[in-house]
Amino acid sequence: MIKRSLLDIEKMVDGYGLEEEYKNLYISGVTTDSRQVGKDSLFIPLVGDIYNGHEFGEKALKDGAAAVLWQKSEKNPPKDAPVIFVENTLTALQALAKSYISQLQVKVVGVTGSNGKTTTKDMVGSLLETTYNVHKTKGNFNNHIGLPLTVLSMSEETEVAVLEMGMSGKGEIELLSKIAHPDVAVITNIGESHLMDLGSREGIAEAKLEITKGLKRDGLFIYHGDEPLLQERVSDLSLKTATFGEKSTNDYYPAEITQKLTGTSFKVGNEEYFIPVLGKHNVWNALAAYAVAEHLGVKKENIKEGFLSIKVTGMRLELIEAKSGASIINDAYNASPTSMKAAIDLIENLNGFGQKFVVLGDMLELGEEEKEYHREVGRVIKQNNISHIFTFGRLGAEIAAGAKENFAQEFVHHFEEKSPLITLLKSLVRKNDVVLVKASRGMKLEEVVNALIT
Ligand code: ATP
Ligand code: MG
Repeated sequence: MIKRSLLDIEKMVDGYGLEEEYKNLYISGVTTDSRQVGKDSLFIPLVGDIYNGHEFGEKALKDGAAAVLWQKSEKNPPKDAPVIFVENTLTALQALAKSYISQLQVKVVGVTGSNGKTTTKDMVGSLLETTYNVHKTKGNFNNHIGLPLTVLSMSEETEVAVLEMGMSGKGEIELLSKIAHPDVAVITNIGESHLMDLGSREGIAEAKLEITKGLKRDGLFIYHGDEPLLQERVSDLSLKTATFGEKSTNDYYPAEITQKLTGTSFKVGNEEYFIPVLGKHNVWNALAAYAVAEHLGVKKENIKEGFLSIKVTGMRLELIEAKSGASIINDAYNASPTSMKAAIDLIENLNGFGQKFVVLGDMLELGEEEKEYHREVGRVIKQNNISHIFTFGRLGAEIAAGAKENFAQEFVHHFEEKSPLITLLKSLVRKNDVVLVKASRGMKLEEVVNALIT
C-alpha cells in the first residue's frame, strides 16, 4: 500500500493547510471507511447521500489514523491535528491514486466491457501471476472510488496491476482510464447492460471505448473483434490493437472448442488449453487474457498452467450436483441478453446428459425494449437440444412467448410464482439430467436452485 510523508501527500492531492510540525509524519495506506482505519492510515472522508465521512474525522484520528483530508466546505475540522485541506475529497482520492500509480514502475492492464470484466480480470491475473508480482482489483471494486482504493492498496513492488473498470454512465471509464493510464486496455464485449442510461448499444460502445482515452501512447488495445460496433470505431483511433473472438479473422481465435462439465478446452494455433470454467463466453474471456499475457511476455507453458489455476467468484455458472443425481448449473447471479444466450449455448452443447432443462427469469434494467430482448432470448432456444423450458416472472413471460414461436407449446411452462414451478420441475427432473437456472439477481432464482439440490 501507499507509504508517503504528509508533505508528499499534500503535494499529490494539491492540498493546503497542513501544519509544519506534521510534515514529516508518514502515512501507510488509505481508507474512506472510518470503521476500517488502520494504524498510520490516511483517512479520506467522502460526502455521500446518506453519510458524511467528515463526521468521523476526530474518531479516525483517535483510532490511529496518521492524518485526515478535509473538504474545505465542511465545518469543524479537527484542531491541532494533522489535517490536509482540499477542494473536494473525492477528487483528491482520485488525484492521489493517479499520482501514486505514475510514480511506480508498474505495467497497468485495464479491463472494461458489458459482461465478463471480473472474470477476465481474474483470468489475466492467473496468467500473469505465473511470471510477475501482480496486484488486481479485489472482487468488484471497479468504480470511481473502488479503482483509486485498489491502486492505493498496491505495494511498490507490484510489477503488473490488473484493474477492473466499471461504469453506470458516460464519462466514468474515461475518468478511470485517465487515473490509471493503462499500458494494455481490454474491452470484453458490448452487451445491453446500462441501456437505460446510455440509450443504445452504440452509446454503450462509445462509453466503453473511453478506456482508450487514458491508454499510453505505445499501449495495446485488445477488444472483441466480432463486435461490429467496436470494429467500426477502432480504425479512427489509430491505436495498436489485437482482437479476439470466434471468427478466424481475429488475432486470437479458438480453433476448436470442447465443452465439458468440468470445464472447457480450446485450441489456439496447434496448442490445446483447458479452463476449469463453463460457457463459451469464458473462452472469449480467456482469449482476451491470453492476448494480454502474450503481450506482456508470458510464455506459452505458463499461460497453460495459469489457465488451470483460474478461480471465478461464486454463483457464476456454478455447477452443483443435486441429491437426485441431476446436475444444476447455477447462474442466478445476473443476466443480460448476451450472457443468457451464452448460457443457453453452453447447455445446448453439453453432451452425455439425459433431459436438458432451462429455467429462465427476468433480466432487469433493460430499458424500453425489454420485452423484445426477452422474446429474442426465447427464440434462440433450439427444440432439438432442450427438453423443457421453464420461465418465471413478468418478463419471463416474454421469453416463453418467444420460445413458443419455434418450440412445442407443451414443453414451455410459464409461472408467476416459484412454488408451482418448483413442484413441476422436481417432478420432471431425473438422474443424469441437467438444469440451467438463470435470471437477474433480483429474481432470486437461487431459491429454485436450493429446492432442486435438496
Ligand atoms: P459487473 O458489471 O457485475 O461487474 P462483470 O462485467 O464483472 O459484471 P462477470 O462478473 O465477470 O462480469 O460475469 C457476470 C456474468 O456475465 C457471468 O455470470 C456470465 O453469465 C456473463 N458473462 C461473462 N463473460 C461474458 C462474455 N464475455 N460475454 C457474455 N456474457 C458473459
Ligand atoms: Mg465485475
